[in-house]
Amino acid sequence: MLQVGNEYNSFDELNDAIRDYSEQHSVLFVKDDCKKVASENAKLGPNTTKYPDRFVYRFVRFRCKHGGDVRTNGRGTRPNQRSFKTECPSELSVSANRKKDKMVVLKFVDEHNHEISR
Ligand SMILES: [Zn+2]
Repeated sequence: MLQVGNEYNSFDELNDAIRDYSEQHSVLFVKDDCKKVASENAKLGPNTTKYPDRFVYRFVRFRCKHGGDVRTNGRGTRPNQRSFKTECPSELSVSANRKKDKMVVLKFVDEHNHEISR
């Protein structure tokens, strides 16, 4: 069960949770944005606790695959329209927490603006 505040020991664990959720709910989350642990650690000073490699990401955001689907009717497209994508609001953001030594779910929006195939 995915929810805000969930803690995971590694990216593998998080990935398993996402996979289970995706299978149960027939949605497909794809990585939308991320910051790698390695590049973040490189910025930290020598006396600072580093992010463990098992987190892989210091921050990672997933979005529903349908969020990127192009859906046009071929009519009524306004010239100033910023995007013609179906912007699905569903989102899962996870951040590494060095104090807790865990990956923590910061944001989880379990809402879709399209039909979910079952
Ligand atoms: Zn969606």
